Amino acid sequence: VATEVGVGEFDLIRRHLQRVGAARADVVLGVGDDAALVRPRQGMELALCVDTLVEGVHFHPGVAAADLGHKALAVNLSDLAAMGAEPAWATLALTLPDADEVWVAEFAAGFSALAGSVGLALVGGDTCRGARAVSVQVAGQVPCGQALRRRGAQPGDRVVVSGTLGDAAIALSHCLDPQGRMLPAGEDAAARQWLLNRLHRPSPRLALGEALRGVASACIDISDGLLGDLGHLLTESELGASIELSWLPLSAQALAVAGESAARAAACAGGDDYELCFTISEACTMKLTTLSARCGVALTVIGRIESEGGLSLRDADGRRVTPLATGYQHFAR
Ligand code: ADP
Ligand code: MG
Repeated sequence: VATEVGVGEFDLIRRHLQRVGAARADVVLGVGDDAALVRPRQGMELALCVDTLVEGVHFHPGVAAADLGHKALAVNLSDLAAMGAEPAWATLALTLPDADEVWVAEFAAGFSALAGSVGLALVGGDTCRGARAVSVQVAGQVPCGQALRRRGAQPGDRVVVSGTLGDAAIALSHCLDPQGRMLPAGEDAAARQWLLNRLHRPSPRLALGEALRGVASACIDISDGLLGDLGHLLTESELGASIELSWLPLSAQALAVAGESAARAAACAGGDDYELCFTISEACTMKLTTLSARCGVALTVIGRIESEGGLSLRDADGRRVTPLATGYQHFAR
């Protein structure tokens, strides 16, 4: 077909994408036929999701191919984590302006390293010519009826977030210019590198998501900013929440590079965090320490679910803050 990258080039793509990620016994047929065949475990539901990253919209043209391979998979794994699902299989739709073998090899290496580390196999995909875009579809398994949902929070539940918030947004606004080139660093070079790693190499919270089955009453992953994504959870649960802005977990690196006020604004509304935001009953809050140690990620209570609708924010002095008035909506520009 005229839109395909070409037979010769297609061979090299197959060369780099044939054995990517984990080798799984439940892959009956992987890359190479008209469709892949996989065998889900008895008693499991499949969790399916897809995310597309478009050059110039979701990533800068100069981004390292290996970072893009990691991130295109990581953003999908974050969705599986939010459902409490265990990753199993993926397909990959690649749109490329040319058949650059080095680029494809590096992309595949970044994708494969993350896929292998979480036991996921790449089982198929599609390749065509066009403006660069990467679309990854993942399938995970979760015991029937046990998936975490956005709906389910109860009044009085605590609102908890994993990791630190706003790091990726600070990397974008403080460490890169609009073309994606690194801004000059001073003594804070290590902090900037750490923030850029948070932007380019998000860590999907898969172990946490699985551990939250039967523990969290509702869960969502934070991809578009805490306030917006928590808002989706509240809409689905038909409840409100009160959030203590001074409790939001900020990294030392974001504070060092951007200062407290920008770091806090980024934690509220900055995108690309890929942390989990979940609700648990007050009685379950004592499990947080163990969960955090077991899953290797900090867990911070940031507020509680209220029976009244809407999201109410309080600053360190207990004053009510509205996101619009404090400019959080305008952050990230
Ligand atoms: P068809 O024309 O039947 O859709 P293709 O020629 O597009 O098949 O693909 C041939 C095989 O290569 C299929 O098994 C497909 O899943 C796999 N494949 C194509 N592109 C990719 C890719 N980017 N990543 C992984 N597998 C791919
Ligand atoms: Mg095809």
